Amino acid sequence: MTVHVPTSLDEAVQLLVANPTARLLSGGTDTMVEVNFNRTKPEAVIALRRIPSLREYSIGPDGIVIGAGVPYASMETGPLAQALPALAAAARTVGSPQIRAAGTLGGNLGTCSPAGDGLPVLSALNASINLRSPRGTRTVPFAEFMTGVKRNSRATDEIIESVSVAPTTGFQDYAKVGVRNAMVISVASVCFVHDRNTSSVRVALGAVGPTIIRAREAEDWLAGRVDASKQLPPDGALATEFARLVASAARPIDDHRSTAAYRRHAIEVLARRLYLRSTT
Ligand SMILES: Cc1cc2nc3c(=O)[nH]c(=O)nc-3n(C[C@H](O)[C@H](O)[C@H](O)COP(=O)(O)OP(=O)(O)OC[C@H]3O[C@@H](n4cnc5c(N)ncnc54)[C@H](O)[C@@H]3O)c2cc1C
Repeated sequence: MTVHVPTSLDEAVQLLVANPTARLLSGGTDTMVEVNFNRTKPEAVIALRRIPSLREYSIGPDGIVIGAGVPYASMETGPLAQALPALAAAARTVGSPQIRAAGTLGGNLGTCSPAGDGLPVLSALNASINLRSPRGTRTVPFAEFMTGVKRNSRATDEIIESVSVAPTTGFQDYAKVGVRNAMVISVASVCFVHDRNTSSVRVALGAVGPTIIRAREAEDWLAGRVDASKQLPPDGALATEFARLVASAARPIDDHRSTAAYRRHAIEVLARRLYLRSTT
């Protein structure tokens, strides 16, 4: 196996053009599992960890840009956690400290599992994915990026460079249910973003469909009942109906991790909890 170690994104793009079947490698926490189980045998690897720009983030008045190679550990605390508490909450649920030190959003997007913990957050934040290729940079809304289970709209010669998020003001959080508290893949997850800047509440669901699902009907229903430019009302009946509508958006299946019925129930419980948490 040939391992290429570029030190700039331009060099990585050129290497990918010259080696179109090469596997891009960020933290390796998904890829090395595939290799260890003989599910993939890449002839060439393009390791992205030595590209400084991919491991940087910026927070400014026009928005937040997170390099595809920023590890979860950098999202758990500090400026990124202050700017995007839901992302911090999701990052804290990923694997173990070792996995969070290596794993990245770029890798979560590259794998595109419906159970990927970063993805509901990107969906609820209306994030855009910036892709770099020999043709320049293409920006794709998250809703158009993930197209199915482990499928996305990245072209084979594109490298995920970063994600962009518009500034938000208001409560945001992420909650997940798994079979135990740590080192666990989501059975169901919810990201709740109350954005007072755009007077909206946005809710995205993980692990309950082939892609991350936005609970649009619940979002619209709530928009007709509350003034989302202000603090949301601590109304239990409203929270219950909102959560019921959120759960009705889920498209869960029975599999080795859980049943569809439990997953839908978990989504309802998490959505109600997050709504009420946002009002305090
Ligand atoms: C023990 C363990 C526990 C885990 N727990 C969780 C968990 O709780 N939640 C969760 O969401 N995930 C979990 N994972 C999965 C994994 O850690 C995450 O999906 C992580 O985000 C992958 O990032 P990475 O940088 O390691 O990806 P890599 O393994 O480097 O890459 C993954 C895929 O993305 C592609 N890729 C990587 N970077 C780019 C790029 N810049 N542009 C284009 N394609 C790219 C690769 O080619 C590959 O196909 C776990 C994994 C392990 C081994």
